[in-house]
Amino acid sequence: MGTLLLEVFPLVRTATSDPHVTMAPHRTVRHTVRPDQICLLTFDRPGSAANILDQRTLAELNEELDFIERQPQLRGVVLTSAKRSIFIAGADLNILGEEVPNVAARKLIEFGQSVMNRLAALAVPTVAAIHGAAVGGGCEVCLACDYRIASIDRATKIGLPETQLGLLPAWGGSTRLPRLIGLPKALEVILSGKTLAPKLALKSGLVDELAPAEYLLQQAVKMISRGKPHRPNRWLWNNGLVAAVLAARLRPQLMKRTRGNYPAVLKALDVVTLGISTSIPRSLELEREGVLELLQTEACHNLVRVFFLTERARKRTAGGTMPEAEPKPIARAAVLGAGVMGAGIAQWLSARQLPVILRDVNTEQVAKGLSSIAKVYQEGVKRHIFTPTEARAGLDRISPAPMEVPLRRVDLVIEAAVENLEVKKQIFQRLDELAGDDTILATNTSALPISELAAGTRRPERVVGLHFFNPVHRMQLVEIVVGRQTAPEVLQRALRFVQQIGKLPVIVKDSPGFLVNRILMPYLLEAGRLFAVGASVVELDEAILDFGMPMGPMRLLDEVGLDVALHVAQTLAASFSDRMTVPESLVKMTQAGLLGRKSGRGFYVHSKSKEAMPNPQTASFVRDRRAANWPRLELQERMLLLMINEAARCLEEGIVSDAEDVDFAMIMGTGFAPFRGGPLRYADALGATKLVGAMEHLVDSGAPDFKPCALLRNLAAKQGTFYHNK
Ligand code: NAD
Repeated sequence: MGTLLLEVFPLVRTATSDPHVTMAPHRTVRHTVRPDQICLLTFDRPGSAANILDQRTLAELNEELDFIERQPQLRGVVLTSAKRSIFIAGADLNILGEEVPNVAARKLIEFGQSVMNRLAALAVPTVAAIHGAAVGGGCEVCLACDYRIASIDRATKIGLPETQLGLLPAWGGSTRLPRLIGLPKALEVILSGKTLAPKLALKSGLVDELAPAEYLLQQAVKMISRGKPHRPNRWLWNNGLVAAVLAARLRPQLMKRTRGNYPAVLKALDVVTLGISTSIPRSLELEREGVLELLQTEACHNLVRVFFLTERARKRTAGGTMPEAEPKPIARAAVLGAGVMGAGIAQWLSARQLPVILRDVNTEQVAKGLSSIAKVYQEGVKRHIFTPTEARAGLDRISPAPMEVPLRRVDLVIEAAVENLEVKKQIFQRLDELAGDDTILATNTSALPISELAAGTRRPERVVGLHFFNPVHRMQLVEIVVGRQTAPEVLQRALRFVQQIGKLPVIVKDSPGFLVNRILMPYLLEAGRLFAVGASVVELDEAILDFGMPMGPMRLLDEVGLDVALHVAQTLAASFSDRMTVPESLVKMTQAGLLGRKSGRGFYVHSKSKEAMPNPQTASFVRDRRAANWPRLELQERMLLLMINEAARCLEEGIVSDAEDVDFAMIMGTGFAPFRGGPLRYADALGATKLVGAMEHLVDSGAPDFKPCALLRNLAAKQGTFYHNK
């Protein structure tokens, strides 16, 4: 796209005295007037791979509109981007900051709306030629144009994800989208916050046409000759009555889905359904008022923070310092073990263009792995993530290895064999002989000590943990575990690798359970204990769903497999025996073969055709019925207090370097309620004094596991918080 622009409009990047070309060394928006009197407005933020809309860019766009209005000979305007894979990635969220001064936010929203209004009101036809992401504010720019044409390209996606950040589209998106594609479809786009691939955008009416990226501009220019469009209200359902009916029907559904934890979707529903039957200026006013209200919510602050933490993970370097030389990318990998995790990792790497050797102990195991990889690809094809050709090419990148193969030319080996220290030690000793001098030896162990595996090799400095989560193709987090002797350059290279394959890294110290499993385990063990004393499986899960997690603890145990969970629990209990004990019921259920989804029965009965139902067999594992009538909030509090306490301990022990890492890892690794900002952010919102008080009360009532850690007690003593007392 960038190259094409330069070929067709070589003057764009050149300093010139031609008044028809903006002199623009430091500008994001610049114009070029073509000989056929079509003005090309190009977005090209200096020194960045992305275009974003901040105050300055909006002001530049406004100036360009001044210019366009002063040129009566112009026939039309085409908006385009010079970036490779981004049209406009949305508003600059930095402007939201932590404490948003309402006045500044109001000014920016009003200014944005006025610029979009001016664009929409131009006398000449306007076309958005969309290649790459046009999301949020970027999509609103497109909606203010008369026509939209999108490139048929994987990079192109269009939508309004504001509700996912606790906001609503307020630069005209909530007003213009329903008028363009009809109320029901617009609500679907706005309330889901999902972006649409080009074909779906065309189907929904969000774009008028598609074109191959190479012809996008040419086609966009052609569309100018259609003149200003006449778009009367084509939608029967765009009226107050239908809107009121839709709002009444959707509200309870949204409440059920979000349990009232996400105010943005409810506000967006109000704004869009009320706005449709009023004038555009009044609808824009509703947008402004709505978003200003949302900007004050805790949910919005936390969701925006998660967005920034994700950005930080994508770009971070180890220890906050830039490596002296950019680490060499990983070009070839091998995975040992073709089970659940090994197959998952091999699939992910192969889909990211990496050739992978997949090794297991025999042909049967390798074949099993390959068949589960093929299934993930098939699913991906069905969901339009891959074309059939891409899926085939991905599978072809995997070389099956049922026997030992040379690994000298491999940059990285990831061991994902069974969770057994002796087996893994032997594997590492053999890998040491087979691999090249620079090959990084990584393990996907859930809880075994990296340093001990490294000690059996000749070069322990090359050994590192790369802990992927299950299922690999869905879970974005990877814990990078730094062993006692892991070399800084190995850590840097592992970090770049995780970023290279599009996962989100958190760097953790080598300690039992690392970060995520360690924090999760006391919470799961407490759920198990509460079950053993009579709390119902459904109540335990509902208590946590109310809190905002995507899944309750009993369901999670069933999904992970009780045997797998038990194994990790026992490893952790051996290291933290002062506070982690494995409930007998969990051991007995595992012995009875009630392993969860994989055996068809666990805390629930699972079947393909029906929703999971509580398993009546579990009654025989309940010891007494003390907790049978405990209120949900009490169950919720007990499970969460242990999670918060362990999270604080991890920070205290330096398992990660800051509170942000703890919160980010728990949100990305376990789905901890994102709108609460993570366990430590949630702890800050409650206050350490209150937390410590609640924990001490439980200790006094005979539950010593709740003893608050020193860091929490210190914070309580000085009324401090995790985030502001660093
Ligand atoms: P799995 O039992 O599904 O697969 C293990 C595979 O390793 C089997 O196919 C087995 O044949 C193979 N294997 C055994 N010895 C081998 C050897 N010497 N060389 C090559 N292959 C060998 O186990 P899994 O669930 O995929 O777990 C693998 C690792 O990942 C474990 O360390 C586990 O703790 C960790 N892990 C598991 C999960 C999870 O949810 N399953 C999540 C994160 C990490």
